[in-house]
Amino acid sequence: MIRVTWTGAAGLRFETDKEVILIDPYYTRVDIFDTLFKRIAPDPAAIAAALPDLEKVAAIVVGHTHSDHALDVPWIAARSACKVVGSHSLETLMSLGGLPGRTRVCADNETLRLTDSAGVTMIRSAHGLLSLGKGVPLDGEIRATSTLPMKAGGYRVGTVFAPLLELDGKRFLHVGSANFDETHLRGHCCDVLFLCVPGWHRRQDYPRRLIEMTRPSSVVLFHYDNFSKPHVPGGKTRRMPLIDMPGLIHATRNCAPAVDVRVPEIGAPMDF
Ligand SMILES: [Zn+2]
Repeated sequence: MIRVTWTGAAGLRFETDKEVILIDPYYTRVDIFDTLFKRIAPDPAAIAAALPDLEKVAAIVVGHTHSDHALDVPWIAARSACKVVGSHSLETLMSLGGLPGRTRVCADNETLRLTDSAGVTMIRSAHGLLSLGKGVPLDGEIRATSTLPMKAGGYRVGTVFAPLLELDGKRFLHVGSANFDETHLRGHCCDVLFLCVPGWHRRQDYPRRLIEMTRPSSVVLFHYDNFSKPHVPGGKTRRMPLIDMPGLIHATRNCAPAVDVRVPEIGAPMDF
């Protein structure tokens, strides 16, 4: 059995009796004022509270390097022996954090072994678009000339991947931003598909084409929280405004009536 917990933003925690694997862990939840105007840094107390068993983390996989996906990664990696997998932009961030050479920089669609029971294919993907045709937010790479702590605007997107994690024979596809690249996705199937909610209506054929191509038996809608507000453990998840969750649930059920659609609360474990 694999226990999967959505931990806020695009963060997922996968746990077996042997190990923990994290995708896009982000526990600091910087508030909107600091995001806009200040240099931002990981919050050690928030990370320690959310990840008390940090020594069990075998690997961290990062889909892209916006701050809500990557801010906490150097802090966690510095205190663990875990593997770190991601883009060239993530390697730059890790170097700025004093961990040069620690990141396994992936090529498009490269498959890597993480542990004896886990592997990941880093499917090249795309980031969700801003409204009014304004393109990708914070496009480009984190600059090697930056210094930490840096402003949220320094956390450029880097290469975007949709990690396909295979753990104990089950396949989990993490779509951490509401977009995809059909060419690179072709031929990849999963058991559980995690779909980013915000911005979903700006991507044509989302989620229909993703579901048709990857043929999941479960779809989990996530990244819908207002991650600039704190989350009270056990409490209700505060939603981001204007995300049209009912519309996405309807669209998902419409194209795949037999698929199990879940909308988890932050911190509520799901067993697969
Ligand atoms: Zn992003």
